[in-house]
Amino acid sequence: MSGQRLQEVDYLISDAMVLTLDDHDTAWRHGAIAIKGHEIVAVGRDPELRAGFRAGRTIDGRGKLALPGLINAHSHMAMSTMRGITHDVPDVLYNIMWPLEKVLRQEDIYDLAMLGAVESLKAGTTCLVDHYFFMEEIARACVDAGIRGMLGHTVMSADGPFTGEGELEAAFAFVEKWKGRHPLVTPFFAPHAADTVRPEWLRELAEAAGREALGLHLHVAQSEREVAVLKERYHKTPVQLLAETGILGPRTLAAHCILLGPGDAGLLAQSGTTAVFCPTVHGCGGKVCRAAGLVAQGVRVGLGSDCASCNDDMNMFEELRMAVVVQNAIEAAPGAIRTRQALRMATRVNAQALGLAGRLGQIAPGFYADLVLLDVTAPRWTPMVNVEANLVFCSSERDVDTVFVGGRPVVEGGRLTMVDETKVVARAEATLRRIFERASLAQPRFVQSLPRTRFADETQPNTQNMGTATS
Ligand SMILES: [Zn+2]
Repeated sequence: MSGQRLQEVDYLISDAMVLTLDDHDTAWRHGAIAIKGHEIVAVGRDPELRAGFRAGRTIDGRGKLALPGLINAHSHMAMSTMRGITHDVPDVLYNIMWPLEKVLRQEDIYDLAMLGAVESLKAGTTCLVDHYFFMEEIARACVDAGIRGMLGHTVMSADGPFTGEGELEAAFAFVEKWKGRHPLVTPFFAPHAADTVRPEWLRELAEAAGREALGLHLHVAQSEREVAVLKERYHKTPVQLLAETGILGPRTLAAHCILLGPGDAGLLAQSGTTAVFCPTVHGCGGKVCRAAGLVAQGVRVGLGSDCASCNDDMNMFEELRMAVVVQNAIEAAPGAIRTRQALRMATRVNAQALGLAGRLGQIAPGFYADLVLLDVTAPRWTPMVNVEANLVFCSSERDVDTVFVGGRPVVEGGRLTMVDETKVVARAEATLRRIFERASLAQPRFVQSLPRTRFADETQPNTQNMGTATS
């Protein structure tokens, strides 16, 4: 090595335990990671990297575990409006979500999206595949918080809170504006579902996604009503209609895939579509997604949190655990979804679904520097014999120490670097209060019927997070 010049890098994470999740499942007990610009340039033994690189900044990785940033393949980051109020209710989509969403306004969405972005980053998620109304505001929040967003403006032709030609136009305008514009934002096309978007629009969106080489993200076979509507209208299952309209394909993320008909798994597998398993939401809603069975039939199955409705948080560490627990319970078989498999679903498999298998989901040279350092000194982590199992069953978002997205540290020492968390929470609380006040005026009985804690020391019930029909 003598006489050899050191390679300059921006960051060197030194002496950390590293799970690379590369093709050989390489793990380092005393590893190091070199980062330059947006990318990882090297990962390997700590002494060798220290000898080969000169870093602008060295981050001490002792007591830390490095892993690829988690990818949430189905989220609605601005849906904290529903947090805590959807449990024990059937068909929350129709009974709570849509009625409440009717009062949403564009100016509400940035604050709510920022809350979801911050919550996600602090839980080790570096990339969200998101789907909602007023997507422009959500893209701004992703850029400001420093999280990677694969974002699609929700399109509905009927039934939902925002429907019609204007929404279709907004979806195309969003793609036009954000394509190639910012390294953290990738536009998607996002029809809501097969029963809420007319087939001509599904075809139009599928053709546009093919033409623009962009992904598609939608809900598939998530409710009895969806299945019944399609059966009555077209004598088809949701998957059959989507196959016919060209929506299925290797760049399509199909969230849920719960109520599948015979042959549907085959259509998903043949087309290369990714089914996104959201175990907490499915469990809370009393729904069964046979994710392990889909994998056995050759379907690519990714992992997502869905939203604050029925979850109520966006914590992919929790989804890792739930993926294993829920599938093992459904199949009455330990190992139906293995711990290592769950971890891969939230990283490599979700990256494949995004068409980014060579850029996301691993700690390897040439990959985006999207990674997480967990503090593993808590009693919960001892001993670390089978680290993948520790990760799935012992991890908590409280362990998240450092998060890099695209080569930039966006969480350090457990604190956000791009935005002030206290202000984000305060702004979101004020916005949520305004939304509930509006909803109370529009539909007082509905809002009064929502579950809430009755505080003995409050004359007005819980005005903090839920408006009252006082005016
Ligand atoms: Zn959803």
